[in-house]
Amino acid sequence: MVSEALKAAEVSRETSQPIAQAAAAALRVQGKRGEKEWPRPPRCRVITIANQKGGVGKTTSAVNLAAALAMHNCRVLVVDLDPQGNASTALGVEHHSDIPSVYHVILEGGRFEDIVVPAEGLPNLYCAPATLHLAGAEVDLVPMVARESRLRRALDAYNTDELDYVLIDCPPSLGLLTVNALMGADELLIPIQTEYYALEGLSQLLHTVDLVKQHLNPNLAVSTILLTMYDARTRLAAQVADEVRSHFGDLVLGTVIPRSVRVSEAPSYGESVLTYDPGSSGALAYTEAAREMAYRGAEERK
Ligand code: ADP
Ligand code: MG
Repeated sequence: MVSEALKAAEVSRETSQPIAQAAAAALRVQGKRGEKEWPRPPRCRVITIANQKGGVGKTTSAVNLAAALAMHNCRVLVVDLDPQGNASTALGVEHHSDIPSVYHVILEGGRFEDIVVPAEGLPNLYCAPATLHLAGAEVDLVPMVARESRLRRALDAYNTDELDYVLIDCPPSLGLLTVNALMGADELLIPIQTEYYALEGLSQLLHTVDLVKQHLNPNLAVSTILLTMYDARTRLAAQVADEVRSHFGDLVLGTVIPRSVRVSEAPSYGESVLTYDPGSSGALAYTEAAREMAYRGAEERK
């Protein structure tokens, strides 16, 4: 298993082949661990990935879970709602300021059809890019009509029948962009970094979720908690993981994402870690986490 993984990783590094071929190599490695195809949900699952803390792994999780789902025959759209555009970068999608982006959809009544582009090299994976214009969105949204539901409206108008998942990557705040994301989704995935202060701010996030549920979107549910950047060498990480599990029980995925250099290197190549280094611990963990999500969703909706 390990040597297979190394071989596949080496092949993809050596030849700097297109990501699609690296993806095939990843599947050869990961196929040993499980199925090539996962159950597709009966209807498109819209999942917001939010946590107002920065640097907890929102974008990394959005990109890598999306890549894992796409590699197992699910069709996935990543909506980049962070002005930084990190998810767009990691998916190899252009997002300079002339590109039509999520800003046009949310602020200017544009359509998703006009902005969605395929992610570089991975079939089944699409991205609605963010540009720096989005940095002004929090202010520009304030005087607008139905300012909390603009993303929802645009998603409703978009034909998601052909999609299995929409993953929305949020900025690190609880402003109007994140509220739009909560309003537009059925599910919330909260990444929690297994570090000190991990739980700080969570009550504020959950309070916002409650308000959105009461006033805007009664269907919203916190469906998934993902523990990220786990450092197995520290007792602290294990303690935090235990604490999160005791708070949130079954919402917490069994799979924990380890801290791994490969995970942090991948975006600078415009790749997910699954294509960048398919045999790495980070790639395997994100695949396993996505697999859990796919099977949980399938069960819930039977
Ligand atoms: P957020 O979107 O919540 O701000 P990011 O996903 O951008 O967080 O992650 C913050 C930083 O941590 C990034 O530099 C990213 O590459 C790095 N990172 C995320 N997950 C891991 C991991 N499992 N191992 C190592 N570095 C990680
Ligand atoms: Mg981010």
